[in-house]
Amino acid sequence: MHTLVADHPLVAHKVTKLRDVETDTPTFRALADELVTLLAYEATRHVRVEPTTVRTPLAIANGVRICRPVPLVVPVLRAGIGMLDGMARLLASADVGFVGLARDEETLVATTYAERLPADLTGREVFVLDPMLATGGTLEAVTRMLVGRGAAGVTAICLLAAPEGIGRMQAAFPDDDPVPVRIVTAAVDTMLNEKGYIVPGLGDAGDRLFGTI
Ligand code: URA
Repeated sequence: MHTLVADHPLVAHKVTKLRDVETDTPTFRALADELVTLLAYEATRHVRVEPTTVRTPLAIANGVRICRPVPLVVPVLRAGIGMLDGMARLLASADVGFVGLARDEETLVATTYAERLPADLTGREVFVLDPMLATGGTLEAVTRMLVGRGAAGVTAICLLAAPEGIGRMQAAFPDDDPVPVRIVTAAVDTMLNEKGYIVPGLGDAGDRLFGTI
């Protein structure tokens, strides 16, 4: 499993503002949206393309187009929804599936409560949107679901990651795994606290995007 930490001053600047407890919900949403687009640029670096030609006003030009089947984008409910527009801006032709996982706040174990995914993902590249890679339980479960349906590769875009979550994903999907699994994140933080929150982190991403309900 490969982890890419986006090394860019604009990413670092936006993450800093995102972390700030004084950042209000509308600003948080806008920053998350912009950050996802920047991370998506890195995450789609290996997207499969095929040669094509296009007629310009002057001549025929060689180019490429995204291969079929088109990639699938999977936001993890609820916080991943706040990342969908930023991803779709860069990969407009992708289909979108949904999974909802809730983690028990005591045991930190994730269980699936909603799922709308193609039954067959053979040959498809999948981009999972989940802002916080904390224990890794949710991302491991979602990745197993996608690989089990035949995904050709799974790339998770996370705003922040904890070393614990990255370690769990590395153990679950070793380098010699036939299906490539990647994580693209803006920063790897110090640790998880006893409640499973990333420290220093940014708090509860769902609450900060959509309010506390
Ligand atoms: N989920 C969040 O929203 N924040 C964390 O810090 C960890 C998990």
